[in-house]
Amino acid sequence: MSSTHVKISEIIADMHVIDTHEHTYPQELIASRNPSIVDIFEGSYIFWIAKPPAKRDDFKSLVESVKGISESTFYKACSIAIKDIYGVNVDPPSEEAFIEASNLIRDAYKSRNWTRRVLRESALIDKVLWDPYWDIWRESFDPELFKPVFRINSLLFGYRRDVVDHNGNSPYVFEEYLNLKVEKFDDYMSLIDRVLEEARRRGYVALKSALAYDRPILFEEVEEDEARRVFNKRGLGLTSRDIRLFQDFILHHILSKASELGLPVQFHTGLALIEGSNPMNLVNVIRKYSNVKFILFHGGYPWIREVAAIALSFGNVYIDFCWLPIISPSACKLLLKEVVELGLSSRAMWGGDCWVVEATYGALKLFKGLLTEELCKMVDRGYLKFDEALEIASRILSENASQIFNI
Ligand SMILES: [Zn+2]
Repeated sequence: MSSTHVKISEIIADMHVIDTHEHTYPQELIASRNPSIVDIFEGSYIFWIAKPPAKRDDFKSLVESVKGISESTFYKACSIAIKDIYGVNVDPPSEEAFIEASNLIRDAYKSRNWTRRVLRESALIDKVLWDPYWDIWRESFDPELFKPVFRINSLLFGYRRDVVDHNGNSPYVFEEYLNLKVEKFDDYMSLIDRVLEEARRRGYVALKSALAYDRPILFEEVEEDEARRVFNKRGLGLTSRDIRLFQDFILHHILSKASELGLPVQFHTGLALIEGSNPMNLVNVIRKYSNVKFILFHGGYPWIREVAAIALSFGNVYIDFCWLPIISPSACKLLLKEVVELGLSSRAMWGGDCWVVEATYGALKLFKGLLTEELCKMVDRGYLKFDEALEIASRILSENASQIFNI
């Protein structure tokens, strides 16, 4: 390793971070489960690609299961974190290591402020944009560290009282929270406005769409009368076209409200319902709501070039690397390089997108490593100056997010 590389790597490792996207479970929730390594794996996507054990303490079958995916970055990032935080090597997976790590995890979650300590002291994360989708109107949290974002999905499901979004959320819970009663279509539209105004007032720093898990993310222009007609069916004889028209209209309405309230909008793009998640689907709304800041998540993976090209074409588009480094470091490096070449480093940021702080720690360590690697290569071949490389790193790790979300 060259001395430039050593220096850049040390400086980036010490940089403080604003993490633009997490689902961090409250510590008391994890502590109440008598946690083990199973909870850490659950919070780090391991069980997206490996089968969870039928019994939580069956570490023998857990080893068998994760052995099949231990080459994945989800597993590598998670094991880096367990090694650094608990001093246990779980790569390659073994029953003894899982038992040892589990004992330490259980103890750690008994100590107060464990999650805060890992985020602040081990990962150097100063602030976290937080998407608690299991409780989108959560009242109790650590407001100094966590800045909530408001998940908009449920608002598109108001066409019937008995439907919910993919997380099980209904917009009609807001009738009670905000002391409103929805009878007519106009009442429903007022409910949306009130929810968004109230979110702003309560300190939510952005809106967040995970709609790519519910439906394709192409939202066409629909007349208000069409949406009203669908609402007035009261759920009777609804067609899938009716639902799409209603939802398209609502999404446009939310974006015009975001524009009025100055709320940036984070959009999940890529993967999810993959036939409809290509970020190119958002171009019409990006063009129309030109004063809304659109933050495209996950580098749009696998459509990383589309995301870069959309950001180059529209000044109101930002690229969020969240989740991408632990999906594919190769794709992440390619996008990092192109972001620099396209002059987009003032519009890029990073988030972990995990449920447990150990996973966040691993995702960040990995991302800082990739950032270091790509920037060093550019310094070595004389493309970037040393200081320029560090400025880019600092923008991506904290400055851009601080400006965009005003935190
Ligand atoms: Zn997420």
